[in-house]
Formats: sequence, C-alpha cells, structure tokens
Amino acid sequence: MLEQLLPELFKNQNDIFHRQRRRALVNEMNSLEDKKLSCAQCVGNCCTFTSNSMRVTPLEAVEILLFLQKERRLNQDLINQLETNVLEFRLDKETLFGIKKNYTCPFYLGKCKGCSISRWSKPYGCLAFNATEENVLEGKSCQSNQSLLEKRDNEFKQLEDSMNSYIKKVFHLPWEKESIPIALLELIKKGELRPPLD
Ligand code: SF4
Ligand code: SF4
Repeated sequence: MLEQLLPELFKNQNDIFHRQRRRALVNEMNSLEDKKLSCAQCVGNCCTFTSNSMRVTPLEAVEILLFLQKERRLNQDLINQLETNVLEFRLDKETLFGIKKNYTCPFYLGKCKGCSISRWSKPYGCLAFNATEENVLEGKSCQSNQSLLEKRDNEFKQLEDSMNSYIKKVFHLPWEKESIPIALLELIKKGELRPPLD
C-alpha cells in the first residue's frame, strides 16, 4: 500500500529499507547492553507519560507503518488504539507556547516488556535514549546521546530532507514532526490505509 502511494521513496529500495541510517545508534545500544547498561529490569518510564514526548518526522512515521504493515498489524485495532491514545493525552489540541505534550506511547508493552517496534524501525530519539547505570529500575539517570544523534542527522540530512519533503507533499502534511499517534493516524487517514471493517 505505502509502496503504491510513495513510488519515489521505494524506487531505490536501499534508501527506504537501509539499516545504515540506524546502525550507529543500534550498535551503541548493543555495546551499552554488553556493559550491562540495559533496560531489562526497568519499568520503561521513558515510554510513558511521565517522560515521553517523542515526536517523529514523516519518514520515521512511514518507517513505523511499513514495519506494522509487514507484521500485519496495520488493522482496525491499531487505529482504535491510536485514537484512544490521542484522546487520552489530548494530543490533537494546541499546546501553549509550543510545549511538547507527554504521552504513554501506544507501542509501550508495559512494565519491563519494552517496545513492540523493531530497533530497525523505531524513532532515532528512542534508540539514542539509554541507561547510564547498571540494574536500572526506573531510569532516573538515563540520557539521550545527543552527539551520536547529531552525527547521524548530519550524515543523512540530504537524503532524509528530500524523503521528508516528498512524503509531506504526497500526504499534504503541514508539520515537520508530530507525536507518534498523530503522525501515524494522519498518514493512515490521508493515505486511505484504513483496512476494511470486518
Ligand atoms: S516507539 Fe517504542 S521506544 Fe519509542 S516511545 Fe514508543 S514504546 Fe518507547
Ligand atoms: S532504563 Fe532508561 S532507557 Fe531503558 S527503559 Fe528504563 S528509562 Fe528507558
């Protein structure tokens, strides 16, 4: 479905499916885990409304949708879950002074279970946020590796700027970044990716 809507994006399959754009962040995460700096015992506060305000670009939203499409999870249950999430955290309402709203990510699986999106498809900001201590339970000292994020952004800026502009044009998106549920719902609705009702 997404392939038909965004043919330019899929013309060079290496660009859209290229793991290279996430490799440095995933490698860093793996190396932290080798040093026992892992999320295994943590309640996952970084994905809940206590700390999460993740915003994604159109490209990151397409990549999440592609993953869900491949996993056969792009269905009415997902749409219901995203809509509930938007309502619960009022993500469709204007924020005062551009302050980002916190929300519990719809892909958070609950205590110690983590995230249901593959490392190779999830937002860069999620990959860069990691534990800085062993045996973390609540993640109070976790941090985002800003220098690695910036390095990645600069490396792929030209390619990603053009991919984001193209997606924005096809879907008539007025935003550069949005919360995960708003971004996914807008692409699903504008792209008529809504599956037929049973
Ligand atoms: S995509 Fe995954 S890691 Fe990122 S906020 Fe959502 S649950 Fe957390
Ligand atoms: S250890 Fe930190 S990065 Fe990992 S799930 Fe907990 S709060 Fe998030």
